[in-house]
Parts: sequence; C-alpha cells; structure tokens
Amino acid sequence: MAIATVNPADGRTVEVFDPLDEAAVERRLARAQSAFESWRLTTFAHRAELMHRAAELLDQANDKVARTMTLEMGKPLAQARAEAAKCAKAMRWYADRAEALLADEHPAAEDVQDSGGVSAFVRYRPLGPVLAVMPWNFPFWQVVRFAAPALMAGNVGLLKHASNVPRTALALEELFARAGFPQGCFQTLLIGSSAVEAVIRDERVVAVTLTGSEGAGRSVAAVAGDEIKKTVLELGGSDPFLVLPSADVAAAAERAVTARVQNNGQSCIAAKRFIVHTDVYEEFLSAFTERMRALTVGDPAAEGTEVGPVATEQGRTDLEELVADAVGHGASVECGGGRPDDPALGRGWYYLPTVLTGVTPRMRIHREEAFGPVATVYRVADLDEAIAVANDSPFGLSSNVWTTDDADRERCVRDLRAGGVFFNGMTASHPAFPFGGVKRSGYGRELSGHGIREFCNVTTVWSAS
Ligand code: NAP
Repeated sequence: MAIATVNPADGRTVEVFDPLDEAAVERRLARAQSAFESWRLTTFAHRAELMHRAAELLDQANDKVARTMTLEMGKPLAQARAEAAKCAKAMRWYADRAEALLADEHPAAEDVQDSGGVSAFVRYRPLGPVLAVMPWNFPFWQVVRFAAPALMAGNVGLLKHASNVPRTALALEELFARAGFPQGCFQTLLIGSSAVEAVIRDERVVAVTLTGSEGAGRSVAAVAGDEIKKTVLELGGSDPFLVLPSADVAAAAERAVTARVQNNGQSCIAAKRFIVHTDVYEEFLSAFTERMRALTVGDPAAEGTEVGPVATEQGRTDLEELVADAVGHGASVECGGGRPDDPALGRGWYYLPTVLTGVTPRMRIHREEAFGPVATVYRVADLDEAIAVANDSPFGLSSNVWTTDDADRERCVRDLRAGGVFFNGMTASHPAFPFGGVKRSGYGRELSGHGIREFCNVTTVWSAS
C-alpha cells in the first residue's frame, strides 16, 4: 500500500510520500535510543511541563489538525475537532497524574519482615523505545493515548502510522517537537507494513503496541513473541448493544444511532450488533431505522454532515460483500443497503447507513466486524438469549446494556465477555478508565493507571539491611 493522502470524499490522490529507506530508519532508531538515555532521567515535573505545552499547541491548532484528519480519512469535521480536543485533554490528564500513577508501592510491613528483609518497594521504571503501529480511524487519538502515558513514564515513542494518514503522522511528530520534547523522543517512521518486522527485531526497540486488525495483530505479536518483547494489542470489535424491557427505548434508539455511525461507522468500540428483547423489539427497530434513514450523508468537510465516506475503497468493498452475503442468506434490509444515489457523492466511497434484520449465525456478518455504517438487529426472547447472542462473537472489546433492573445489571457484569460494560449509554474511551478487550479483541490495556504501567519495568527493590 502506497504511503499517500487520498481524499475518501472524492477518491483524489492529494500527495504521495516516499517511504524511509533503511539508512533513514537506522538514524531514527539511533536517535530514539540516545534520546531515551537522557529522557529517562528527567523529572515528572519537566515531562509534565512539555506535555502541557503540547496540549496547548494542539488546542491552538485544533481546526488545522481536524481538517487534515478529515481530508485523509473522511470523518465529519465536527468529530475531527472533538478528537483533537480529546487528545489535548488526555495529555493534560497524564501530565497531571503520571507521577502519582507511577509512585513507588510499599508492601505491608509484615510481608517485608516475612520475606527476611528490612525494606522493600516496587518502582515503575521506563523500558526504552516503544514502537506504536497505529490505525487510521482515530488517527490522532489512537496515537496520543499511547504517546502521552509512554512519554510521561520516561519511554520514547516510534510511530508507524497507517499508510493512508501520513500527514497526520507527520503533524504528530511536529507537535511533540514544537512542544520542546528533545529530538528522538517521539518520531514518525514513514514506512510500509512490510518494514515493521525489522524495526521490531531491532535490539533498541523494547516493546510494541498495535491498534488495528486481527491480521496485523497476529503478525506483529508473532515477531515480537519471537524476540521476547512485550506487546499490547487493541484489535477489532463487534460490540453488542442490549435493549431490555425496562429500558427507555426511545433514548436507547437515539443513542444506538450515534453508537453505530460515529466516525462513519469505523470505530472498534462502535455498537455493531443490536440485541433487543422481544417485548420492545418493534418499538426499538422502528425508531432506530427511522433515525438511521434520516442521517445526513455527505461531504465530511461540510458542517452538518453526520456520515461521511468510508476511509478506503477496499473498506467499502468489504462492507458491500458482507451485506451481500447476509442478504444472499436471507437477511432483510430495513434501510440503506447500498451506495447513495446523489451524483454529487458519486466519486467518494460512500455507503448508506444500513439496518439488517433476520441475521443468522451462517451469515458472515454475524461473526465478522462490519467496519462502516451497517447495523444488525436481533430479536431475543429473554436475557439468557441476549447474553448468549452477545457472547457468540470472536470479539470481546466492550458492550452496552440498556436496563433499569439491578438484577439484569449484575447478570450482565458477570456474564458479558468483554473488556467493558456500559449501561444506558454508549461505550467511549476516557483517560481515567482502562481500555482494551478479551478474546480476538486483543490483550493489555490502554489509558488509566493500567495503561501507563504496561510499558514499565515493574522493579522489586528489596533490602536485607
Ligand atoms: P490494519 O489494516 O490492521 O492497520 C493497522 C496498522 O497496522 C497500520 O499501521 C498498518 O499499516 C499496520 N499493519 C497492517 N498489517 C501489518 C502487518 N502485517 N505487519 C505490521 N503492520 C501491519 O487496520 P486498519 O484498517 O488501519 O484499522 C481498522 C482495524 O483496527 C479494525 O479492525 C478496528 O476495529 C481496529 N481498531 C481497534 C481499536 C482498539 O482499540 N481495539 C481501535 C481502533 C481500531 P499499513 O497502513 O501500512 O498497512
């Protein structure tokens, strides 16, 4: 895949970039190693000052950064602005809390005595240069939620971004440099995915985090495993959205639309499978379908657009194949199900917000991730069946449940196999809460104290006298 900016709204190639050659990659790896040796010795206060400065610069550049994201991957401009603002917030969150999150931990005095020692504590020390292989869908947020904690912990970052967001990747590097982070602390490697293996195998790179598809996760983790290097994997999702009889059905239907079509339907934590109790099924389906049909699809750079194009032509083809397979096996199209008729959108990679019913386990969409504005709605007889359908997926990223019944809540927290359970709202990431999944959605956690400790050397310091 060429490293290029191609506008998904009209298919036009804006700019093509030459990938870095081996010598250029080598220079960056050497710079990362040398930066780490001094960066690891800096104080939290110094790191926080630079991180605050980066947040400030990002806020100042909000509109510019947002337009770059929209140009490269097609998210509606308002959502791109919100993404940039969220990044600045997360930078400040880690700037203000990293020291406390990584404070020394002291075991109970009796446990120290029992070990034969007089003192013992745990210190979180940085590991070194960490490679981040990142996706295009939240091109700023995915990177910042790695970079802010990693840099605050004393690590340095190397970014291999998705090949279709090179300008965003370069904007990130520039942001940290302008904020005053020393040369080598955060570098973008404009390289294709075939060049990733050599970087992982380089002895200066100590760990890898990847956000992306299952296939990419498998390749990266296999190489890192071969090198005995730590990985965090944030992979795909097909989150369930359960609507139970005690729910506020109108509110659930309204939120369901946002949960499905945010980011043009290309979010790992988008609700993708709507699992509705039979008592409220008709009411939910009708309100949900009506709202999905009414969404404004169009140029993502135009104010007021709710759903823009799918980011790549291949992405739209994948979506069309999933829907065709479902319809071919008997699914019904409640709305959408194809490209918009509007000739003004003809050259872009648009796909109409779509609702499918009558989905069965033999359809691919039952088990695969639909990465675009396509929802499947299931009718279930009771909570047991709702949980069974929710868990009948290779993924386990997050889940959403609409209910006011305490027993239902407890049951869902106990039985839904996912890294999150969100009640009466939609899943969203927040710096204070751990983010990550189980099953094929990956392992490890980002954000919160759990995220910042993933790339630390958890060091036991014990003393006998
Ligand atoms: P992708 O094709 O897997 O690409 C992700 C990154 O991995 C890109 O930088 C890509 O580089 C690189 N890559 C791909 N194959 C690779 C390989 N064999 N070896 C090394 N690197 C490789 O995914 P995407 O299409 O950008 O993103 C969509 C996927 O990401 C969805 O499945 C979505 O659910 C998932 N996602 C997960 C989370 C989460 O937190 N769990 C968040 C966002 C997205 P190139 O672009 O150069 O190929």
